[in-house]
Amino acid sequence: MRRRAPDSGTIRLVSRPQLAVHGHFYQPERRDPFSGEIAPQPAAAPYRDWNARIDAECYKPNAEHGNLRHISYDLGPTLASWLSEHDAATHQGFVDSDLPPEIVEEKSGNAMAQAYHHAILPLASMADRRTEVRWGLRDFELRFGRRATGIWLPETAVDSATLRILAEEGVLYTILAPWQAVDSKLDTRRPYRVDTAGGKSIVVVFYDAAMSAAASFESDATMDADGFARDRVLPRIAGHGFADGTPLTAVIATDGELYGHHQKFRDLFLARLVNPGAGVERGFDITTVGRIACAPPQTLPAALVAERTSWSCHHGVLRWTGECPDAADGRWKGPLRVALERLATAIDTLAEGLTGDFMDAREFWRARDQYVDVIYGAEPAEGFARRWLPIASEAQRSNFLSLLEAQRWRLAMFASDGWFWGDPVRLETKQVLMCAAKSARMIDASAGTDLEGRLLDDLSIFSSPSRRIDGAAIYFEALSEAGQPRARG
Ligand SMILES: [Zn+2]
Repeated sequence: MRRRAPDSGTIRLVSRPQLAVHGHFYQPERRDPFSGEIAPQPAAAPYRDWNARIDAECYKPNAEHGNLRHISYDLGPTLASWLSEHDAATHQGFVDSDLPPEIVEEKSGNAMAQAYHHAILPLASMADRRTEVRWGLRDFELRFGRRATGIWLPETAVDSATLRILAEEGVLYTILAPWQAVDSKLDTRRPYRVDTAGGKSIVVVFYDAAMSAAASFESDATMDADGFARDRVLPRIAGHGFADGTPLTAVIATDGELYGHHQKFRDLFLARLVNPGAGVERGFDITTVGRIACAPPQTLPAALVAERTSWSCHHGVLRWTGECPDAADGRWKGPLRVALERLATAIDTLAEGLTGDFMDAREFWRARDQYVDVIYGAEPAEGFARRWLPIASEAQRSNFLSLLEAQRWRLAMFASDGWFWGDPVRLETKQVLMCAAKSARMIDASAGTDLEGRLLDDLSIFSSPSRRIDGAAIYFEALSEAGQPRARG
């Protein structure tokens, strides 16, 4: 327990309407996996790279204005790791805002965890889903000094197996889009309970579609926070609340980068919206998603969640695996995913083979779930290896660590950004290809295999809609730009 207000334990029954804003703050891993550095990105000028630019336009000002103390947010681990290295003060702002003094229950702090690499969990194997969730929760615990109670699902992509894993890992709540509820008429102005197989349940807070869309896409609506509060928020939640005492509540959920990066000056809009100052009466209170989800009483009505749905594709999760109207020509997406899945299967099989003479396979996968401690820097790699393999040789421990590092990049290659946009020649797809290359080369070096050659064959089947070059050519381009052209073949 890090901090606890003296009046902890008292229950304040609130019947006034409430507004919560959630910011999903995230950037993919932009570091080249070979050098550990971000290559300069000229399109981000006048800043060196996109992380630096978005930090200056969004992360830093929102932390400095104190906005994070009044909203809920998730800070993706790949972004958090960059921030802690390049802008420690802003990183500290995110950490310190988790439990401002007015928070009564630590479990309803402002911050939520995020599944680690921002993979689309319904498209991942069960083992990968569990690892991504465990890494996200553990990174949060190390960074924020408490166990997370809520977790943000990348792209809010969900299915019942994913919700079951969250519940089994002790997650109390998540946020979904309203169209992810099976009942299209569900009143989203209160939280719901979703029962999962295995006898557990999880609280789902559905965000408000119209208000979130207005905040994200109608720049006129967010010119003036007081007008937004009066014209958009209050009409939606004015009233006495539900019969069981639950107040009428609305949640605005958007990318955190909206506030200052996607739209200029919206860091100031947010400041005024969530912290208008003493004496401003708007007819509703500001709260956070954690407080909505964890507020007593916990007898919540049940809801059902639609399988394989998400917030930024209205065609399920097709945006990240095949053709849907979000891309003019998405024929590259399926073959790219299949190529990386085939690579992942081979890497996993070889990892079990290469550790088989000194380690039980199930132990290896358990070790993978904890390897995030080494990535975070909470435990030195050598100590980690000695703890898992106390009687193995130095060579075996070194192999073990190199196979876990290969797993790290094999997990990173499924970051959703690689499939999000309309063309695989973009930086985001090149990034997942570099992660694939890193992982394949590490395994090839240990096992004498040619996974990289096989990957290239698989990548050659699809093409860039704009440049007509195939996936193997995009791979070569990405690796040459990083100074890592293919050594063999
Ligand atoms: Zn779509």
